[in-house]
Amino acid sequence: MDITAEDFALSIPGRPLWMQDAACKGADRDWWFPSSDDMRLRQLQTVAAKAICAECPVKEPCLHYGIANDEDGIWGGLAQGPRRRLALTMSRELV
Ligand code: SF4
Repeated sequence: MDITAEDFALSIPGRPLWMQDAACKGADRDWWFPSSDDMRLRQLQTVAAKAICAECPVKEPCLHYGIANDEDGIWGGLAQGPRRRLALTMSRELV
């Protein structure tokens, strides 16, 4: 049985309310957490996930959640590496 992004979100203890409005509800979790050995498939999944994120009404709180919890996968349209760089840039701007 495939695990959907919604299944994953529901499994998060104390999950934030904004997750109820996530555009990825019901979508294949693998798109946001690509793990296939097939690099081409991972790229296609990532592009598909980011396209959905781009239209998501809760993109901003999702991005903040991904940064605050240093999550794996794509949150708020960004993968972990770009989120870490964004967080670093934001922290430097606060100094
Ligand atoms: S921004 Fe992307 S990962 Fe976050 S809730 Fe929306 S669709 Fe899901």
